[in-house]
Amino acid sequence: MNGATARSRAVKQVLVWVILFAMPVRTSLARHTTRSGSPGQLGENAQVRAALEWFAPNLNWINGQQARLTEIPAPPFQEGQRAVEVKALLASAGLSVQVDSTGNVIGELRGVNEKEIVVLSAHLDTVFPAGTDVKVRHQASRMFAPGISDNGTGLAALAAIARAIHEAQIKPQRTMLFVADVGEEGEGNLRGMRALVDTYRGRLKAVIVLDGAGTDHVTTIALASRRLEVVINGPGGHSWSDFGMPNPINALVRGSVRFINTKVPASPRTTFNLGQIEGGTSINSIPYEARLKVDVRSESESELLRLESALRECMAAGVRDEMESSRDRSRGKLEWKVELLGSRPGGELAAQSPLLAALRAADAILENESRIERSSTDANIPLSLGIDAISIGAGGSGGGAHSLQEWYDPTGREMGLKRALLTLLGIADLAPEKTK
Ligand SMILES: [Zn+2]
Repeated sequence: MNGATARSRAVKQVLVWVILFAMPVRTSLARHTTRSGSPGQLGENAQVRAALEWFAPNLNWINGQQARLTEIPAPPFQEGQRAVEVKALLASAGLSVQVDSTGNVIGELRGVNEKEIVVLSAHLDTVFPAGTDVKVRHQASRMFAPGISDNGTGLAALAAIARAIHEAQIKPQRTMLFVADVGEEGEGNLRGMRALVDTYRGRLKAVIVLDGAGTDHVTTIALASRRLEVVINGPGGHSWSDFGMPNPINALVRGSVRFINTKVPASPRTTFNLGQIEGGTSINSIPYEARLKVDVRSESESELLRLESALRECMAAGVRDEMESSRDRSRGKLEWKVELLGSRPGGELAAQSPLLAALRAADAILENESRIERSSTDANIPLSLGIDAISIGAGGSGGGAHSLQEWYDPTGREMGLKRALLTLLGIADLAPEKTK
């Protein structure tokens, strides 16, 4: 970097600080000045800087907490043990913490204005079933373990940001809630976020979701998705003596082959996944049951509905084919149904929203570039209700999410921590000096 570039960078930095703090702090100052006439703005900036500077010397602690939390299993609907540990972490960051009836851990930092709430959240749960080996393995700069990145990264960042704000003694204008929520993955159907939004609705100004690694994106568009389960039942019998009886697994396979040949458009992007299949009791029994779980997603609600009805038609045809080809229909027929396991509503953050402006200001300060993304996250719930929400990565890099090879590399994670912190402070605003 030459001198001129360095100078222009420095000038840019200063400008960006001015822009960021002009926005929320000028309001505080104006409020403050009218009331008491004494400024307090610089002190507030120093506190923000102190919070930003808290991360670098504490990276080992942050990485350590991430590994520790990841090694506490949190399968869907069994987040309790991990919740206890996160609760203690948030309490040690000076928050008043409670666990709600759904299992969400909620740490409150009361603002001057208690009627307005900004949420920073990270989901507690993983996709991995009980019994999965979640021991963290270190190799070079990487940590390996199921769930290490999704959402060990988000949880570690949640605790670190709460701690940084506490250490810097920042008092927010709006009340901040630091939330580790349940039920984001699998069949949790976003129940934690649904309950949270339900409780605080009317007071919620913004929701910032921390999910996984990275600083390269901001999810502002909530992708609509549906999770369905096909269940086919039959009489069942012996593989030799009852051969010819309709077989639920055969029917499921016939229907599945039809379904996976369904054409989906590239635009609007539409996807499906046959994610889980089970049924049968033994190799030499005609099964009495077969089940299949299917996830369908689309940028278009109508494509989503079209795909869902295609699934039903294909399964109906699969069952019909199996019945028609079975030799012995006298001893029972196949019953089938498609059940809705979950539905994530769609929604979109307005381009003019203050939340997006706060994120963009944070990106500018950190000289970070990020793109708008469409995804299915905890932010779907607030977005579908018209509440400002985004989902972002919490820094560092990761890969292999939802697989046993999942990894996380904390190199450079400060960027993600600072980005989330600045966005949170940008939207929650700082309290006027006097009221501290
Ligand atoms: Zn996640």
